[in-house]
Amino acid sequence: MLASAPRLPSKGCPMPASPLFDLTGTAALVTGGNGGIGRGIALGLAGAGAEVMVAARDEAKNAAVVAELRALGIRAESVVCDVLDLASIEAAMTATVQAFGGLDILVNNAGVAGGGRPETITDEVWDRIVDTNLRAMFQCCRAAHHHLKASGRGKVINIGSMYSLFGSNRAIPYAASKGGVVQLTKSLAAAWAPDGIQVNAILPGWITTEMTAGVATSGAMHDRIVARTPAGRFGEPEELAGAGVFLASHASDFVTGIVLPVDGGYSAS
Ligand code: NDP
Repeated sequence: MLASAPRLPSKGCPMPASPLFDLTGTAALVTGGNGGIGRGIALGLAGAGAEVMVAARDEAKNAAVVAELRALGIRAESVVCDVLDLASIEAAMTATVQAFGGLDILVNNAGVAGGGRPETITDEVWDRIVDTNLRAMFQCCRAAHHHLKASGRGKVINIGSMYSLFGSNRAIPYAASKGGVVQLTKSLAAAWAPDGIQVNAILPGWITTEMTAGVATSGAMHDRIVARTPAGRFGEPEELAGAGVFLASHASDFVTGIVLPVDGGYSAS
């Protein structure tokens, strides 16, 4: 199945064809930027000229992505960050501003999946998933606000899911948190438009990452997803880069509060 997926450059995108998409001189912070979708978006932003701070817990994975980003000729740094810890979030903001002189683009991508039958879900599981995917997203936005406002071209990109749109009979806390991402995005968009900050969400379809590794090898579920997806395949993390660059750039300056599916048509049919 994946053999038929179009392969984009593995190390980011070509240089932008239009100044509308040029991110030169901007600084981005990507939570969970050390793998999967976060890495795909980080490479896209770097390919368009942004300096990138990778913020996640695994230091070795952070360093590996920083090396890939620097190979694109931009400044990149990493900070060990656990978004479940408010002090860690605030330290990541400070580290970004110290490294790059400001913060223009916040990508709230860190997330965890999980669930089970609703009647068996413990409070601990609920809190871990909802706090990572939703509470921390708000806390990152709140901690970034004054930097984004000062930037004059502040952009927030929140990562939702198909479960932002559809229910799930098993991934209950995940779906609840991703539904919340949409309303958080719209609400912050309304609140911060006067500050010159655009807040939008990307809703990925099924993308090949560590999070979906179990599904990718599960046979029946994998086949059901592929059959349900008009494009007839999973997406690749690099395929989120285009939407990321658009929502980070001047090309989207009058776009705020939207949710943009990047899903091979999954949500359209
Ligand atoms: P991965 O599991 O590959 O990546 C998750 C990332 O989040 C890792 O970089 C991880 O880094 C980071 N992370 C997790 N918990 C924390 C934490 N407490 N603090 C900081 N970073 C954390 O998954 P994906 O790339 O697939 O997922 C990325 C986002 O995309 C998530 O929000 C997910 O819900 C969403 N998504 C994914 C889809 C898919 O099909 N793959 C579909 C729809 C949405 P580390 O462990 O080092 O901290």
